[in-house]
Parts: sequence; C-alpha cells; structure tokens
Amino acid sequence: MDVSAYLVGDLLIDTGFAYVREPVLEALRDRKISAICCTHSHEDHTGNAAALSRIHGCPVYLRHADQLWEEGVRDLAPYRLTWWGPVEPFSPLEMPETVESGGRRLRAVPAPGHSSTQTAFFDEASGDVFTGDLFVSPGATAVLNWGNPWEEARSLRRVAALRPRRMLTGHGLIVDDPAPLLELKATRIEEAARHSVDMAAEGVAPRKIVRKVFPRGRRKDRFLEFLTSRQFSRLNFVMAAVRLAPRPATTTAVQR
Ligand SMILES: [Zn+2]
Repeated sequence: MDVSAYLVGDLLIDTGFAYVREPVLEALRDRKISAICCTHSHEDHTGNAAALSRIHGCPVYLRHADQLWEEGVRDLAPYRLTWWGPVEPFSPLEMPETVESGGRRLRAVPAPGHSSTQTAFFDEASGDVFTGDLFVSPGATAVLNWGNPWEEARSLRRVAALRPRRMLTGHGLIVDDPAPLLELKATRIEEAARHSVDMAAEGVAPRKIVRKVFPRGRRKDRFLEFLTSRQFSRLNFVMAAVRLAPRPATTTAVQR
C-alpha cells in the first residue's frame, strides 16, 4: 500500500513511515519546510515527523496533539511494526484553524472517524483538499478498534460540503470533483451502521450482523482480523455502529 505525503508551497502534509525515512529525507533535503501538518497520528503518516522537524527546524501540527500516542501508536501491534515501523517521539503542537506560510494557506477541517486526530486540509486557493485516511475506498468497510462510523460519515459530508476541486488522499488515490464520491461513502456507511443497529435491537448476534451487512469478502475480512490482532475488522464496524449510535430524536425535535 502506497503512503502519500504532499508539499504545498513550504507546508508539508504527512511524513511517511519509518522504513522510508532515508528517501523521504533525501527528497526533501533541499526544500524549504516551514511547518509539518499531520492528517492524523498513525505511524504511516507521522513516522518521519521527528526527523523532518529536527532537520528543517519547523513545528509539527496535529489535531488533539495530546492524543499522539493513543490508538495503539505508542505500542504498535506486530503487524503495524512490521508494515510501517515505529514513530520516533516528537512533540506536536495543537492544530491551528489555518496553517499559513509563503502565500499558501491550508484550512484545517476536523475529520474524525478513522482516527480522533484526523484532519482534512483545504487549500481554498486551488480547491485541493488533502484527506489523509478519511477516504481509502468508496464503501462501508472494516474499521479500527477506535473507529467511529457515525463520526466518519459526518466528516465525509463536512469535507464534501467544501465542494473541493480535487481530493488528494493519504494512500495514493487522487480524485477530481470528489464531493459525490464522499457523499456516496457517507451514505453507505450510514446505511450499514443503521442496518447493524436495527438487527442488534432484534437480538441478532454481532457475527451474524456482520454476515448480513457485508455479504461478500468474508474470508479476507477474517484474515485481516487475525493478521491485525483484531484491531481492524468488520466486526469492529458493527460493534462501534451499535455502541455509538446517535440517540433517537426527542419528541420535541420531531414535531418541530
Ligand atoms: Zn494511513
């Protein structure tokens, strides 16, 4: 899986993972970097933040900076350590509302769901939005233990509402006019989450809900669940959808 980092003027979005440190440092050696903006805390995006910030003498911004080491980043599960490598410690600053330098300006749009620290960076001048791991594929998918499908759907709609000209994701995918695709994914997530909640209310067991909501690709899902020490699975999606379901609207709200 590719991991992306983007240089917008002298603002760097994400830093790649530990095992590509040398080529990343080399590629950026003669470039000016005045700030590093992390789309979220995970090791494939923050792996080289410490080294780059040290070499270029610039700050690193992260939304909910105090949560850098949560979501398993401090003690990486074996699959994460094997795939990406560890995050060298650094001290991120809290994400400001906008990050500006050299005539370029990025608006930091909260986009939690995949990670509580997830941010989308909107370059209003160009219409580009940098979305990290908000969008990897267009469907409802397996999520990490701490994933929140409801919040993810709201974040997708929030970014779609910016009407970006182009979306540049954290894993190689670049999409022109992404709003319809972002909304489609939000709708699919909400439908799958609602379906999960309804079945849970009828007393259907979680594994059975998974099979109903995600009828295809069961073996791959179970393999990923095993490989990731249960950190990433469709079962997580169903459990989170049920646990975090929004409360039904009150009578007053409905009648208004
Ligand atoms: Zn990622």
